[in-house]
Amino acid sequence: MYITQIADLRCGAGAMPTLAVDMAGPVKTEAVVLRSIRYGEADRILHVYTPHRGRVSAIAKGVRRARSRFGGRLEPFFRLRLELHEGRGELLTVTGAHTIDGHPRLREDAGALDAAARACDAVGRLFETSEPHPGVFNLLCRQLALLDARAAGATRAGALQFRLKLLLAAGLAPHLGACAHCGEREHLVGFSGAAGGVVCGACEAGSFPLGEDAHGFMTEALGRALAETPEAPERALGQVERAISETLEHHAHLRLMPAGGRAG
Ligand SMILES: [Zn+2]
Repeated sequence: MYITQIADLRCGAGAMPTLAVDMAGPVKTEAVVLRSIRYGEADRILHVYTPHRGRVSAIAKGVRRARSRFGGRLEPFFRLRLELHEGRGELLTVTGAHTIDGHPRLREDAGALDAAARACDAVGRLFETSEPHPGVFNLLCRQLALLDARAAGATRAGALQFRLKLLLAAGLAPHLGACAHCGEREHLVGFSGAAGGVVCGACEAGSFPLGEDAHGFMTEALGRALAETPEAPERALGQVERAISETLEHHAHLRLMPAGGRAG
């Protein structure tokens, strides 16, 4: 009752309605485990990505003991239904975990495992706050499911398509339809991270050369589903990766691991 009155008073004073409710309590959420770090004698600290709370850090106590009730579920790339307890600190506590998809086939292929690790690293670093991005959560789930279904089929083109879609979700999608400087639609010859897109011959200062196949790959990759990755020669994919890296460096001050993945 007292809490309600405080909230009412604040509203009446013209301030934003503030709920004076203690945030502590149980939290149920879907999550993908991005990282799992050993902590102390038997615990693990998890970085998980959730649809509605962004990146969350949580401690799983006793998880490394043989008889832990969590079994092997709190490993990277597991998609889980998690029960967490939120205390006053930033670190939540895992109280329950149910597997939605453990992606077992992905773990048997070194290439797929590596691609999954790079995908999770990119999500964790580009979306490191609690700001909700349900689209990013869905994208990561789809990418992990695809890597699991295809296992040996993890390619550099697929990894780059995933990164382009992360850029789009972060509001950093490169301008591809016209020169990012002057709007010219013809003679697009370069890519400028600073300008945030392709540039024409007159505006190419500070850009690097971008071939038609690399330009076409980026446009198609953004327009197609993850399951329909376009193809491009290795040289073009190198230009695409550079375009993504320079965009991130200029606009998010972020450097990701190389996209990895084999050619083809
Ligand atoms: Zn121009």
